Amino acid sequence: MTEEERPGNTLHRDTLAVHAAVARSQYGENAEALYLTSGYVQPDAETAARRFAGEEEGYTYSRLGNPTVTSMELRLAALEGTEAAIATASGMSAILLMCMGLLKAGDHVICSHSMFGSTIKLIGSEFGKFGVQSTFVSQTDTAQWQAAVQPNTRLLFAETPTNPLTDLCDIRALADIAHNAGALLAVDNCFCTPALQRPVELGADLIVHSGTKYLDGQGRVMAGALCGTEKLVKESLLPVLRSAGMTLSPFNAWVVLKGMETLGIRMDAQCQRALELAAWLEQQPQVSRVYYPGLASHPQHALAMAQQSGKGGAVVSFDLRAADAQQARARAFQLLDTTRTIGLCTNLGDVKSLLSHPASTSHGRLTESQRQSAGIGQGLVRLAVGLEHVGDLQADLLQGFAALK
Ligand SMILES: *Cc1c(COP(=O)(O)O)cnc(C)c1O
Repeated sequence: MTEEERPGNTLHRDTLAVHAAVARSQYGENAEALYLTSGYVQPDAETAARRFAGEEEGYTYSRLGNPTVTSMELRLAALEGTEAAIATASGMSAILLMCMGLLKAGDHVICSHSMFGSTIKLIGSEFGKFGVQSTFVSQTDTAQWQAAVQPNTRLLFAETPTNPLTDLCDIRALADIAHNAGALLAVDNCFCTPALQRPVELGADLIVHSGTKYLDGQGRVMAGALCGTEKLVKESLLPVLRSAGMTLSPFNAWVVLKGMETLGIRMDAQCQRALELAAWLEQQPQVSRVYYPGLASHPQHALAMAQQSGKGGAVVSFDLRAADAQQARARAFQLLDTTRTIGLCTNLGDVKSLLSHPASTSHGRLTESQRQSAGIGQGLVRLAVGLEHVGDLQADLLQGFAALK
């Protein structure tokens, strides 16, 4: 890895996205190399012993480390402005690693009840089985986070903006609450990515990513990562990853590494299309409400502009007008079954625009009362905006609206 390409230097993020942490073999290839190997031949038994004991740098086995994965980690850390990052097999396994690394039985976590569905399940139910206590509070009401602090609170975990309703947390305010309580603040930065929002600059200690989304950017691979200080990554997270093995495949790391090169321009273009579509959706008679932080009608528009580099992100959600929940669900299904350019798919962050129905898919495993406190109704539709021409997306949605009975 060449010195000028290592993170921590003064290059602009646009440059780091393309140049940070290129690992080159002796052939000097210009594109990032893909080291698709599970093991590494050791020069001699003494060296192997020192490497396994951690007394000498060097790769041994790809569960423990791989040059392509290291490149991806360093490039993401450069973009987030953190000292270090650790890659995982998916976004959920990054959250699993975080919880295993930071929490033990008897510890307490505070989250919002409108977080990603699997996050609520993992922390509330799965870690609950191991004696980790959790309190789920309002996403937007900072006072509730403060009120939930207990002497055993170790972690505040926020996702901003949330999936799918795009509610924000004030990262700086939550960082103060966490630090006054002697706890850490982790932020799921999946929706904004470091192109829009850099949580450590606002006081967060740890950043969670699903690389599956905008970091890959073209809907190809599953990936995840945690970004933080060298100490946190090396001492609290790496030992767990080595033992538990939620390691990222080198191939997936390579795809994400290449995806990050175009992150900035993709986010700019997708945010701009999302804003245009959100404003247009507000005018449609079939739509009763639009959720998009870039709109002046969003209750936290001012915070979004300050915290997210003046951009609203690329996910727009909206409620379909309906008399009751049953009709709302039927209409949402009709819309999803009618659009053609916009696919029916629960992924997001792809250059292809995608529609989904959170209540029956990503949030389908939540109880009705969990869904209600998260505000996810049967008529709610999520549109993850890609790179198509806005006119074509509008035409596709219009023929979908026309089909609603
Ligand atoms: C998708 C997603 C995750 C989980 O990531 P996977 O890569 O699907 O495991 C976590 N948080 C948010 C906000 C997400 O959208």
